[in-house]
Amino acid sequence: QWIFLGDKFVKKEDAVVSVYDHGLLYGDGVFEGIRVYSGNIFKLDEHLNRLYDSAQSIMLTIPYEKEEMQQIIVDTVRKNSLESAYIRVVVSRGTGNLGLDPRSCSNPQVIIIAEQLALFPKELYEQGLRVASVASRRNRPDVLSPQVKSLNYLNNILVKMEANLSGVDEALMLNDQGYVTEGSADNIFIVKNKVIYTPPVYLGALEGITRNTIIELANEVGYGLKETPFTRHDVYVADEVFLTGTAVEVIAVIDVDGRKIADGKPGEITNHLLKEFRRVVTTDGVP
Ligand code: PLP
Repeated sequence: QWIFLGDKFVKKEDAVVSVYDHGLLYGDGVFEGIRVYSGNIFKLDEHLNRLYDSAQSIMLTIPYEKEEMQQIIVDTVRKNSLESAYIRVVVSRGTGNLGLDPRSCSNPQVIIIAEQLALFPKELYEQGLRVASVASRRNRPDVLSPQVKSLNYLNNILVKMEANLSGVDEALMLNDQGYVTEGSADNIFIVKNKVIYTPPVYLGALEGITRNTIIELANEVGYGLKETPFTRHDVYVADEVFLTGTAVEVIAVIDVDGRKIADGKPGEITNHLLKEFRRVVTTDGVP
């Protein structure tokens, strides 16, 4: 397996970074997760735009133009002869001294890893997930914007741990006003009386690329879809609940905080959108 590190491809065993890298010391950096389906990189432009926007927001200069970065990502997939894969792109502030001042880091570090990934076992896609709302809150948009996919995912890890401790598969995050925002690394949708709802991103959710794909697909297929704030109660009484994300794709939720959702099976609209999603991922994308 070949990893792109800094300015060249190195073998996985040789892909090591400095202990003084501020990505490691402070979570100072940004990242993206991207999928490859049937040899095509799905929504590469959208992911690159988000990566560069995240970097701009935290004043991190990515040492490659977007077009060069696109080529490097394509080359990483080709060099590893991957037909289906998950790509992780990381840009950290790079090596500095032990102080947190980023001015000691003169060369941002670029890491690109492409490999197979299966987040949840196949059965969970057929049966659906159990999720629990957690006590930790999504960070406020006026602090570090939820639109920045920074390397500092501690909050997301803590909510995942809370979910794990309560014996379920995934967490449901609320904002400080109690509105539902998203999962630990996925967006949420609910269905009620054939209308699909998802929280507006200003409540404190990442504007997921899978989320946007699902919104487009729902519109194409002719479902009503509203971006409206909702609470846990609305989730408990929904006809269907599902999560979307690059890693999870589209996955049904059948239990929330111990409340069975409808008949406790993945819903019709969820399954329909999952089918549509599987169709577009194999036809769209950068070869
Ligand atoms: N929310 C958070 C916090 C995430 O980290 C992710 C993963 O990227 C998502 C939502 C889903 O976004 P996307 O569909 O672009 O992967």
